[in-house]
Amino acid sequence: MNKHLSSQDRAALQVALAMRREQLETQRHQHLAGQTRAEHAREVLLQDGDDAPQRDADRELDLAIADREVLGLAAIDAALQRLSSGHYGLCADCEAAIPLARLQLEPQALRCVACESRRERGQPRPASL
Ligand SMILES: [Zn+2]
Repeated sequence: MNKHLSSQDRAALQVALAMRREQLETQRHQHLAGQTRAEHAREVLLQDGDDAPQRDADRELDLAIADREVLGLAAIDAALQRLSSGHYGLCADCEAAIPLARLQLEPQALRCVACESRRERGQPRPASL
């Protein structure tokens, strides 16, 4: 259980997470609805299939966007769960307290900046940690 966040901080972060979740959910629904309309248009207009490579590219892009939205929602849900279980705000890798300033910018952050950038560079965690 981390102590570096006051109950006030937690409450504010929980609100921020809930708002982000709602935004992402709205965006996702709009995107899914748009995709459905686009696919319907393709069915109507492009039944001969002579632009299949372009359609595949569009489909790939749609999937990539949808994946990001789903991952974003999952990250927010996980953060909300950590808030309620008392594990929120601790780095998932090194268990250091994640600074409040970072959490305010990115309330769903799972790791401290050092561990996050190490992961982004694709380097393994040093054995000393
Ligand atoms: Zn860390």
